Amino acid sequence: MYTIDLTGKTGLVMGVANQRSLAWAIAQPLTQAGVKLAYSYQGERLRPTLEQLTEGQDALLVPCDVTDDGDLDALFAAVGERFGRLDYLVHALAFAPAVTFEEPFIETARDHWRLALDVSAYSLVATAKRAAPLMSAGAGILTLSYLAAERVVPHYNVMGVAKAALEASVRYLAFDLGPRGIRVNALSAGPARTVAARSIAGFGDMYGATGRQSMLHRNIENEEVGSFGFALLADSLSGGITGETVYVDAGFHAIGMFLPPRPA
Ligand code: NAD
Repeated sequence: MYTIDLTGKTGLVMGVANQRSLAWAIAQPLTQAGVKLAYSYQGERLRPTLEQLTEGQDALLVPCDVTDDGDLDALFAAVGERFGRLDYLVHALAFAPAVTFEEPFIETARDHWRLALDVSAYSLVATAKRAAPLMSAGAGILTLSYLAAERVVPHYNVMGVAKAALEASVRYLAFDLGPRGIRVNALSAGPARTVAARSIAGFGDMYGATGRQSMLHRNIENEEVGSFGFALLADSLSGGITGETVYVDAGFHAIGMFLPPRPA
């Protein structure tokens, strides 16, 4: 069996809302490999869930709304104080107002654009800037994206634009941090039934269609995002990959046309 021991390494996981969160799926293999983790959460409402999930792990839990520079500064100060270094950063959060998933894209309000791009894309830049001084060669930053960055996916609208900005930011950050041996990648996941996804208008239909039409004729499992997210962070598994967006979507992204099923 191929086992990876990352004892002595440290990580910060941002975006766990509950056990269905993709951030939580990525935290599992990291914990199993011996990585000491800190978690940030958006507001006090989420703290009890994190306390319950991380019981017995002596994990550092820090509130952080990524639209607040003061919160970000305090988060990385706390991480620096606890660990003195940072090997892995998992950025698994996004937000756009519900109405942007319901109305046509052409109706996008300026404030909604700003908020979606701020939370879902700029926050990666803001966190990378604060994480980098704690990182050294071999460290990794991972964010989560979705196919709507590249293609029109009904309902995603401004979130698709935010994911496009996120994926471009991954490339620019990877370029900036590459000389220091720090890698930055995005994992583009297929639909998963999380809190954020369920709040998107039409998500149930999209989930069903992806499951029927993907190359593997199924949706992905959170554990598949977890294991490949882990692989993209671990230098010993993916040391040559940076500035990349890799799909974990059962092959859906690579299909160019969907035909009705042939009659039996
Ligand atoms: P989730 O609801 O479990 O996690 C979303 C997280 O974003 C929550 O923890 C929430 O608190 C956090 N968040 C939102 N606004 C924030 C803010 N201002 N400050 C700090 N945190 C904030 O949902 P998820 O599906 O696990 O989402 C994680 C990532 O995965 C997101 O980037 C999402 O776009 C991406 N993704 C999800 C799917 C899917 O179908 N679920 C597919 C592809 C990509």
